[in-house]
Amino acid sequence: MAQETQGKIRLATIWLAGCSGCHMSFLDLDEFLIDLAQKVEVVFSPVGSDIKDYPENVDVCLVEGAVANEENLALLRQVRENTKLVIAFGDCAVTTNVTGIRNQKGDQNEILQRGYGELTDEHQWPQQIPGGILPPLLPKVLPISAVVPIDIYLPGCPPSAERIKAAIAPLLEGKLPAMVGREMIKFG
Ligand code: SF4
Repeated sequence: MAQETQGKIRLATIWLAGCSGCHMSFLDLDEFLIDLAQKVEVVFSPVGSDIKDYPENVDVCLVEGAVANEENLALLRQVRENTKLVIAFGDCAVTTNVTGIRNQKGDQNEILQRGYGELTDEHQWPQQIPGGILPPLLPKVLPISAVVPIDIYLPGCPPSAERIKAAIAPLLEGKLPAMVGREMIKFG
C-alpha cells in the first residue's frame, strides 16, 4: 500500500456549512476522476471515505462551505495547520453565499429563536433546541478567508466540473492554475 501511494498528491476535501452541491459537482468530473485516482491519494473526504481525523501533511484541500459554527471553525483551523494549499471551493466558502443569508436576521440567538421558537407550533423556545446535537453557532457566518489564509479561490455555486478540472489539473503537474477570466472566476 505504501508503494501505491508513493509520490501521489495527498488530497483532502471537507464540507463546512454548505449544501454538498460543490462536492456533487466534483463527482461530475466523470472520467477525470480516474486520472485523478492515478495521481492523488484521498486522505480525508466526506465522499467515499470514512477517515474521522484530519491528517497531517496534506498537499491540497478543497474546502466547501462557509464557517457557521464552532465545529466548522475548529476543522478549518486544523486544515490550515496541516495543509500546504487550501482552496476555497465554491461561493459559500468564498463569500458565505446562501449560508450567509442568516447574517441579515441577527446573531445566533436571534436565529435560534426564530427557527426553534417563532416558526414552530409549540413556541417552547429555548427548550426545543436539540441539546448536545447542534454545534454552537457563531454570531455570524464567515467566509473561510476571514478565519485562515487561502491560497486559491474557486468560485461558483457550484463550480462546474469543467472549472474544477481546470483548477486541479495544473496542480497535478506541480503548477498553479490561472484563476482568471469569466470561465474561472464568475460567481453563481
Ligand atoms: Fe451549495 Fe452553492 Fe454553497 Fe456549493 S456554493 S455549498 S453548491 S450553495
